This record gives sequence, structure tokens and C-alpha cells, in this order.
Amino acid sequence: MDQQGEPGAAHPARPDRLRTAPPGVLPHYLVLEATAVVLPFAVPSTAPTAREWPFCAILLGTAVVQTELSAKAERMQRFLAGNPHVSVSSVWFFAATLSTPPALASVLTVLIHGHLWLRMASVPGARLYRLTCSVATCVVTIFAARGAADLAGLGTGAPGEAATVAAGLTFFLVNTLLVMIGCKLHEPARPLLSPAGSVPENVLDAATLCLGAAAAVLPAARPWLVPLLVLPLVLLRRGELGRRLELQAGRDPKTGVLTIAEWRARAEAELGRAARIGGDCGILMLDLDHFKRVNDTHGHLAGDDVLRAVAGAVQGEARIYDSVGRCGGEEFVVLLPGLGRVHSVAVAERIRDTVAGLTVVAADGTKIAGLSVSIGVAVHPAADRGVDEVLGAADKAVYEAKNSGRDRVCVSRGGIARTVRHPSGSRASPDGAAW
Ligand code: GH3
Ligand code: MG
Ligand code: MG
Repeated sequence: MDQQGEPGAAHPARPDRLRTAPPGVLPHYLVLEATAVVLPFAVPSTAPTAREWPFCAILLGTAVVQTELSAKAERMQRFLAGNPHVSVSSVWFFAATLSTPPALASVLTVLIHGHLWLRMASVPGARLYRLTCSVATCVVTIFAARGAADLAGLGTGAPGEAATVAAGLTFFLVNTLLVMIGCKLHEPARPLLSPAGSVPENVLDAATLCLGAAAAVLPAARPWLVPLLVLPLVLLRRGELGRRLELQAGRDPKTGVLTIAEWRARAEAELGRAARIGGDCGILMLDLDHFKRVNDTHGHLAGDDVLRAVAGAVQGEARIYDSVGRCGGEEFVVLLPGLGRVHSVAVAERIRDTVAGLTVVAADGTKIAGLSVSIGVAVHPAADRGVDEVLGAADKAVYEAKNSGRDRVCVSRGGIARTVRHPSGSRASPDGAAW
């Protein structure tokens, strides 16, 4: 993994420039970079042997070829990546860690990153400071992994099993930890573990290290076979890009929640399932109150920040198997499988409370608070069968919430929407209905 991946739209935009980054980012970078500069001089190391120089050259040449063949996929990946993306170049760094002195492996890292920068600098949002941080992360990781390999008995020949496993685990853990610290400092509100990447990203990381281990064993026997790894790596990179594109296709680029098409597909499947097994399924429709005023007062970019924050808040109140979608400018829908009226209303109230408590810090530092949302609740099967009918019922309930003063939850029952709670939190008469 490296830290050059641009934040995806699903997350609040990360500060684009170092000088506007949160406090803590700059000291972290400086400490990391100083450590990376000092390590090659401070850690005793043997001089590269006559075999290690040509192996390093083979690794560099192969890395350049692989980068050239994957350049298009790599650029797309960097443009799309929401998490720190996996760098398949780790193959070469890891191979060098096990088969050359760490100082030489560090030089190789600088050269490979330098070439990557030449090919990726034009990607929107590419920043030189992130590149230098990635290089520093790799150098520190290489020294840590080499230390672990030496402790596990790495000799001068082909690396043994224990040394390879120790180095691989250390490489993975130290790299992940450094990336997590960097991401947490950049986005303090982000959960600590989220920068560790998704399961498929970590699998790709592990696959990269496996190929790196294979590359490291080759110099002792057949260094000229190292280039055979290029094609699998190119395919690995393309496969990862395909997975991300598939994921991205169903996501609203501004807020990161589902597009209405993807949400509708899930809703249809869920309502079909509920109809078959006779279960409930709640649907919430949310409309931000007086959102136009936010745009008029703070500008559209700040309005976008508010939309992202609200989407995050709604997602935060949803369970893992609920689906949150954006169905219009400032309108969201939530699918609540298995929830009847009482629990759907409870979720809607939680969302209303959370949105009311939000303070959104826009990119220019302006704080926006005092937001409110009107929510309509409809429940399958009471509101009829299909997605359109349930959505229509929820829409009517939103309309009712707007008309009765906004900042409230209204529930639809048989086409008539009822206010179930006043903004003060005091419960309104539910018209004697049993929910
Ligand atoms: P109400 O309480 O009646 O819902 O008032 P409102 O101002 O929220 O409703 P209205 O539908 O009149 O305005 C919605 C606004 O949302 C108008 C539009 O400019 C804004 N909007 C729609 N999409 C986006 C977007 O992607 N970003 C931003 N910043 N604003 C958007
Ligand atoms: Mg609206
Ligand atoms: Mg609105």
C-alpha cells in the first residue's frame, strides 16, 4: 500500500495541500522522512556483492517495464482510489529486501517511485509530498522487514522459509501501520481501521508479497526469470481496477452512498424476499430542510460538504445490511430489511437527531450547523408491494413532514402520512395506530 491514493468521493475530501492539512500531518511526514534518510547510514550493512548489483538492475528494469505496461490501469486506479491503494511495485521492494542490502533496496525504491512519478504526475490530485511520504514509508518498511528476516536467520543464499515469512509479515504490518497513522492524521474523523483497506485490497497486498517472495528466491538460481513476473502483475493490477470500477459504478460519486439505480435493484430484491417469507422491510426517504439556503449562504462547494456529511451520518446510523442511496440533489433513501414500522421510525428518529447535531466544517474552514431533515417512513407490506409503491408512500410522508413544519418524521399508513414525533422530541399522537 502507499499513501498516494486520492480520497474517494465517499469520504470528506482530504486536504489537498500540505499547508492546509490538519496539525500532526507535517510532523508525521517530517519524522518519517528523517527516519528514512537516517536509516541507511545508521544501520550497519554489508556492501552489495557482485551478484547483488545485477539483480538490482534486473529488478529495476522489470519494474519499469511493468509500470509502463500497467500505466493506464494505474492512472485510473489512482484517480478512483478511495483508500490508500495497493501498489504492486511492492513486489520489487520486497524482493530487494530479501536479496540485497537494505540500503540498496532503498535506492531501488527511490528509483522506482521516481519513474512512477514521471508516469503518474498528470493524474489530478497527484502530490509530490505524498510521493516522498510513500518513499519514506517504503524505506522504513524495508529496514523493518530486513531486520525481521535477519533475526529469522536470513543467510547469504536463497532466503529460507522462516526468513521469508518473518519478512513478509513485518513488511505487511509495518506498511499498513504507517499508512493507517498517516490517514488518521489526515482525516481525524475517520475510523482508525478503515485506512487498512478492504479485504480484496489486503488480499491483493498479500498476493503482491507472495510474488515478491518468488522474485526474491530467483536470484540465487535464475535471476533472468524475474521478468516472468511482469505479466501476472499487469493482470493483477487490471483485475483490481475492474473490481474497483464495478464497485464505483453503483456509487454516487459525490457522497459515496449507492446510486438510485443500485439502491432500487437492492430494494427490489429485498422486497421480493420479504414478500416470499412474509417479513417486513422499512423504507425511509429523507429530504434536507431549506438546503437551498445552505448553498445560497455558503456556496455550492460547502453545500457538497454538507451532503457528504449527511450521507456519512445516515450511513453511520444504518446497519451493515441496510442500504443507503441518494435519490436526488439533497434527498436520500434508506432500505431497512427486516424492520417494521416501530423500528423504522426509531431509525428515522436517530438519523434526524444525528443530522441535527452535525457541525460540518467546509473545505474553507466555515462551520455549518443547525441542519435539519424531514423523513418519511413507509413499511412493506403495509404500504403495498412494489418498490415504486413503497417509495411513493414514503414520498407522501416526506411531503407531510414538510407541510407540518419540517425537522420531523412522518409515517405513512395506507396512503395517509402521520407525524409521529415533534422536533422537540415529544411524541405526537400516533392517531391511535399500533406501531
Ligand atoms: P425544503 O425544505 O422544502 O426541502 O427546501 P430546500 O431548499 O431543501 O428544497 P429545494 O428542492 O427547493 O432545493 C434543493 C436544493 O438542493 C436546490 C439545489 O440547488 C440543491 N442541490 C441539488 N443538488 C445539489 C448538489 O449536488 N450540491 C449542492 N451543493 N446543492 C444541490
Ligand atoms: Mg428536495
Ligand atoms: Mg430539501
